[in-house]
Amino acid sequence: MIAKVIVDISSSEVDRIFDYTVPEDMALRRGDRVLVPFGNKKLEGFCIGISDKSDVDASRLKPVAAKLDDFTCINEGMLALMDFMRRKFYLRYVDCLRLFIPNQMRGGRVRELNRLYLSLADGAEEKIASLPKRAKRQKELAERLREGGEYLSVVSGEFGASTINALIAAGIAEKTDKPVYRKPYRDVSGGGSEVELTPDQQRAADGIFSTDKTVSLLYGVTGSGKTEVYMRAIERTLSQGKTAIMLVPEISLTPQTLRNFRARFSDRVALLHSGLGQGERYDEWKRLLTGQADVVVGARSAVFAPLDNVGLIVMDEEHDGSYVSESNPRYSTVDVARFRAEYGGGKLVLGSATPSIESFEAAQEGEYNLISMPRRISAHGMPQIELVDMSKELIRGNTGIFSSRLEEELRDTVGRGDQAILFLNRRGHSSFAMCRKCGYVAKCEDCDVSLTYHSVDNVLKCHYCGKKYKMLTRCPVCGSDRIRYGKVGTQRVVQELQTMFPGTGILRMDNETTATKDAYLDILGAFKAREAQILVGTQMIAKGHDFPDVTLVGILDADMSLYFSDYRSCERTFQLVTQVAGRAGRAAKSGKVLLQTYSPGHYVYRYASQYDYIGFFRKENNVRKVTGFPPYSTIVRVLMTGEIEEKVIAAAKNVFLELRAYELENKDEFLFMRAMKSPVGRIERQYRYQILMRVRKDSEDAVLRVVYGLLDRYRVKGVSVFAQIDPQSLS
Ligand code: ADP
Ligand code: ZN
Ligand code: ZN
Repeated sequence: MIAKVIVDISSSEVDRIFDYTVPEDMALRRGDRVLVPFGNKKLEGFCIGISDKSDVDASRLKPVAAKLDDFTCINEGMLALMDFMRRKFYLRYVDCLRLFIPNQMRGGRVRELNRLYLSLADGAEEKIASLPKRAKRQKELAERLREGGEYLSVVSGEFGASTINALIAAGIAEKTDKPVYRKPYRDVSGGGSEVELTPDQQRAADGIFSTDKTVSLLYGVTGSGKTEVYMRAIERTLSQGKTAIMLVPEISLTPQTLRNFRARFSDRVALLHSGLGQGERYDEWKRLLTGQADVVVGARSAVFAPLDNVGLIVMDEEHDGSYVSESNPRYSTVDVARFRAEYGGGKLVLGSATPSIESFEAAQEGEYNLISMPRRISAHGMPQIELVDMSKELIRGNTGIFSSRLEEELRDTVGRGDQAILFLNRRGHSSFAMCRKCGYVAKCEDCDVSLTYHSVDNVLKCHYCGKKYKMLTRCPVCGSDRIRYGKVGTQRVVQELQTMFPGTGILRMDNETTATKDAYLDILGAFKAREAQILVGTQMIAKGHDFPDVTLVGILDADMSLYFSDYRSCERTFQLVTQVAGRAGRAAKSGKVLLQTYSPGHYVYRYASQYDYIGFFRKENNVRKVTGFPPYSTIVRVLMTGEIEEKVIAAAKNVFLELRAYELENKDEFLFMRAMKSPVGRIERQYRYQILMRVRKDSEDAVLRVVYGLLDRYRVKGVSVFAQIDPQSLS
């Protein structure tokens, strides 16, 4: 028998299947991991096929050296997914396969020791105390087991056999061969008792399965009870003997989701996300593979969970940018999820209070089944959103961070003993140029997107066509010289609040204060426990947290994402305002939202403050149609990077000339094409050049075939060339 093997070579561009003979006594199957001779080394690989034929002469084939696991780690569905991802995202075999297994399994890290499970023996505490002083490693290991609490621990090769054996001999540790899996979170109890569905929820839960379409778009306002709908749909899926995948944008930000799912599905649910340690990740993955768990909750990469017979996939907050992988391997989660759902005859649910323009348009066109939940569960309805015109504040002489309205409302809230959340925008590192007096923002003459200020060369650049503009010294509309570029940080907001409200508890939540996964939970927990009255934070507090005593939400600088230089800026701003507003008045108390802006007349704010998603969708969809941006076109960027600028330029030129020739013969497929230096010309010593295209939707496949073909032909040493489709950022 011949095994078709993908060798796991780390840096090579090789994307080839190698043939090996299978030794008589080896029961090898498609999807098994293997060890194979390669050159003069032995490397890990994946068997992706068994055949009785080879194009290579049998005498020249070497045998597979070993089967690495006692289980098959890639099932038939995943192998089919691999083929799909190769075609769709132009990935190498090995890039796909690596996504499918936990990192810890690669490079020989899963060895015998890994299967050794230890726990503290009865009465170990006293014996630990009497360990000799010099037995440092033994003490460390004992401490590790103790931290594991009631759970057993996996020892993954970091402690030597002598240490382990000594601890067992001393009666401190006990060996078992059956793992008891560690729980990834320290507190996941409570929450999520069964409720009676509202008629809207019932209709939604049924609608997912009664449609003949694979994909349903669940458009439900914040607080309409989408989570309960997901859980019911999952219960139904499990009861039919199928499995389910629940995706959320960043799970460590939503401990509530974890709690709910643990409470409802107990040990049948596994968690997969970036906050897990390597060992924890492996444990959870293995539970899914072996069928001990049949529901997975996780961030983007959980879409690759090793499940069979997938009956349902849910993508909550489907509009979230984190669902697109922007670095290698590049893929879009929704495409993967759709493939997996279709493969198993299952369903895909995209849920959001603010669906992406692309998704809602797909629902309008009948490609997706549209399910609406227009009402909140709580009787209070949506909190009122009040727009505060910051240019008027300026005229009155207030140049601070807080408008007088916000300060007044803050005083009321704090005085009443309620809680407030203040939200600060930190999207992107670049900034736009804005007139503080009239709100004018510099835009590209050709592209209708705002320009980005680049401090290195002191110019304004358009990320969509590469045009450069001089810096503004005066506003071309009102003549004011008060042009703003910078932005305010969370720390400064906290400082000002401390002066305003001495003695009031204030918490800060941003990248700095939440370096570890427990830090999130600590801050959220403290705020929920009312240890502070004001929480100041960035994007991460916009996610689905529930704080019953929050009656005021302030958005300090809403415009920051409005003028982020991206065709999605308006969409992102609408999503952000809606989501942040959803934090106020979720329980018995009603809430209020103050939104500070220099452009109170902008249509985004008009629709957002009325909670008019449909109105916003119509307007924005029309803008996209007129300007020829997605969903009415596809943006393709070919990016070339490398340390030697001449080489990068040469590569860019070659690819561009070929593409230009193709474009000339197929003019109607293109809306735009230009080669240029990337807006950020150099990152980490790598020069960056790019070819930007906007192509007609129905020509996307044809153009991509050409692009991918070129990438193969112009692969030169020292330059990395890759293509991005509808990139999240064009910097
Ligand atoms: P969404 O995800 O749509 O913003 P949630 O799922 O967070 O909304 O639900 C909002 C609140 O309503 C939660 O506190 C949830 O526990 C509660 N809830 C959901 N469904 C019901 C129901 N059928 N009856 C009572 N409360 C419900
Ligand atoms: Zn002006
Ligand atoms: Zn432009």
